[in-house]
Amino acid sequence: MAAAGLARPKQFLECQGVPLYWHSARTFSRCARVAGIIFVFPEDCLAEEKIRIQRLDGLTDAPRPDSSDLSRSLGVPWEVVGGGSLRQDSVFNALQVLPVDCEYVLIHDAARPFLNAALVARLIDALEQGATGVVPGQPVTDTIKQAQNGRILATLERENLYAIQTPQAFSLDILRAAHARARAENWTATDDAGLLERLGQEIRIIPGEAANRKLTHPEDLNFLYRPQRLACSGYGYDVHRYGSGRPMKLGGVPIPGAPELIAHSDGDVLLHALMDAILACACRGDIGRLFPDSDPRLENINSAILLDEVLRIAATAGVELVQADCTIIAQIPRIAPHSQTIRRNLSRLLCLDEDYVNVKATTEEGLGFTGAREGIKAVALVSALRGNP
Ligand code: MG
Repeated sequence: MAAAGLARPKQFLECQGVPLYWHSARTFSRCARVAGIIFVFPEDCLAEEKIRIQRLDGLTDAPRPDSSDLSRSLGVPWEVVGGGSLRQDSVFNALQVLPVDCEYVLIHDAARPFLNAALVARLIDALEQGATGVVPGQPVTDTIKQAQNGRILATLERENLYAIQTPQAFSLDILRAAHARARAENWTATDDAGLLERLGQEIRIIPGEAANRKLTHPEDLNFLYRPQRLACSGYGYDVHRYGSGRPMKLGGVPIPGAPELIAHSDGDVLLHALMDAILACACRGDIGRLFPDSDPRLENINSAILLDEVLRIAATAGVELVQADCTIIAQIPRIAPHSQTIRRNLSRLLCLDEDYVNVKATTEEGLGFTGAREGIKAVALVSALRGNP
C-alpha cells in the first residue's frame, strides 16, 4: 500500500507549524494498512522538501514543531519523487518507485489536508472486497447548469452528480496499466479514476466527507487557520464562616433569613467557587491571588463585579465557557427554594443558556463544620473550550 501526495504551491503553506502535506501524511500513517508514503514534489524543490520531511519525521537532530500529534514520526517508510508537468505525469513517476509487493495504491491531493483516517480505511475495505478502483464522492447539492458564452444551455440531473474527492484508491496493476496506455496513446484525464473510466473499468463510489474539502480559493484559508480548540475543565472550592457581617448571597441572589457571613468581599461562596473554576480553565491561579482580602478597595465588593473581571481574563486567555455545575453544601439555610433563581442568575452572569448551568445543594448529614452550622461551602466545575487567545 502506498499513498502519493501531490504537491503544488499551496501545499507548502504551513498549518499548525507544519506544511499542509504533512497533515495528510500523518493521517495516512495512522492507518495500519498503509505501508508507505510517496511524496511528489516539483523537481526544483525536491531536495529541500526531502530535508524538511526528514526533520518533521524526527530523522535529524533539528528541533521539531511541538504541535502535538503532528510532530510525531510517521512510523512508515517514505520516499520523495520529482513530479511532472501534469498531475498525471506526477502520479506516473510515483508509481515507478513503489515496492514490487505493493498491491494497492491511494492517490491523494495534499490540498485536502482534512481527510479522516476512517475514509482511508473505507477505501481500502472496498479494494479488499474486490473493487479495482474506488473514489469518495459527495452528492452535489447546488443546481448545476451547463453554460457557454455566458448563456445557459442545460440544467443537469442533480441526483446523478457527485463531487469527487481524493484519496482515490486502486489496484496497482490496473492503475499502472491505465497510465502506461495513456502515455502510449498520448491522452490525459483530470484524475486517476478518469484513466480507468476511459478503459471501461468499473469505478466504485463511496460517500466522501464534507470536511475533506479542497483548498482552492483564498477564503478556504480561513477554514485552514481556524484555531484549534481543546476541551478543558476547572474546579473551584470556597468556604465562608457564619458570623455577623454580610447578609448571605448565593450566586448573586440574596437569601433572606439565612445566617450572615464573615467575609472581606460580599461573601458569596458560590460565586467565589465559580470564579476559581473559571480561572482554572485559563490556568490563571485563583481569586485569592487576583483579589487579595488585604485590598481595601475590595471591602464588601459585589462578587458579580469580580466575576466580570474573571470572565474578561478567561476570554483573554481564549477560554469559552460551555457548562457550569455548582454544588452548595450547608446544613442551613435550605437551598431548594432558591436553587432555580440562583441557576437563572448564574446563567445570566455567565452568559450561558440555562440548560448549561446546574445548581444543586446537599447537607453533610450533620457532620463537620457545615453540620455544626458554623459555615457554608460551595464547589464548582466548569467545562470550557480553550483555543488561541
Ligand atoms: Mg470566598
